Amino acid sequence: TLCDLNDELLPLSQAKVSVLDRGFLFGDGVYEAMPVYGRKLFRFDEHMARLSRSLAKLRIPNPLDRDAWLARVRRLVAAHPADDQVVYLQVTRGVAPRDHVMPPGLIPTVFMMSNAMKPVSAQQRHQGVACITARDFRWERGDIKSISLLGNVLARQLSADADAAETILLRDGAAGGPWLTEGSSCNVWLVHEGALLGPVMDEHVLEGIRVGLLRELCEGLNLPFNLRPLSESDLRTADEILLSSTGKEVLAVTRLDGEAVGHGALRGKPGPVYARLYEAYQQAKRE
Ligand code: PMP
Repeated sequence: TLCDLNDELLPLSQAKVSVLDRGFLFGDGVYEAMPVYGRKLFRFDEHMARLSRSLAKLRIPNPLDRDAWLARVRRLVAAHPADDQVVYLQVTRGVAPRDHVMPPGLIPTVFMMSNAMKPVSAQQRHQGVACITARDFRWERGDIKSISLLGNVLARQLSADADAAETILLRDGAAGGPWLTEGSSCNVWLVHEGALLGPVMDEHVLEGIRVGLLRELCEGLNLPFNLRPLSESDLRTADEILLSSTGKEVLAVTRLDGEAVGHGALRGKPGPVYARLYEAYQQAKRE
């Protein structure tokens, strides 16, 4: 498959970056992963807005304007055989002699690749997935979509070791916690009394593009939607737990730390709010 390195389309195996690239030396860069359905970009402008915010927070100049990004992403999508894809793009600060201080005037390195979308399996759709919890030991700027993902990698491996699909993170903080932040690579949602609840999108949480989308879908479905601090006990007593991300879309969590999620007849099964949001999501994809 072809990728795009600094505006050059070439086979992935031939794309080469300097060892002095600050992405390699410091993890000094940001990324985006956006879905493509039927060769059409889904929520492109929202992903671009988040990219701009991440770059601004790191004082990396955005190397392209919105239309130039669109042209490049479209060219890459056209070069891939699959109709449904996930486009990965990253921008690093550029190449310079190693120094923690940000060198002025660098040319950012822009890399993009696309992969066929790997849909969630039918079994995971029907049965939901198992997750474990772990303490959120990452840094204080989870709001930046940084390529420095070591904390997320360590967190995810804990659930991989436990044969679970994701690690749900709980962060120490103010009394009444620990507090739900997110998954290692997704946002986390709770259902309590028919309402969809997410944590406040502060500096500990990456605001997924699906946060705004789920808000809109809830409006259309007349489901209450609320972002507020969510405690470990809110998590453990939820009627439903959901995950959201580019790759997972929305996905039901039916086991948490080995315990079935939910109550009554629906215990351990994907719930009604999940089912409605999943259907609404599929419709939004086709529009
Ligand atoms: N949080 C983290 C840490 C993530 O890596 C992701 C996936 N990019 C998300 C949340 C969900 O974001 P999105 O809905 O944009 O995929």
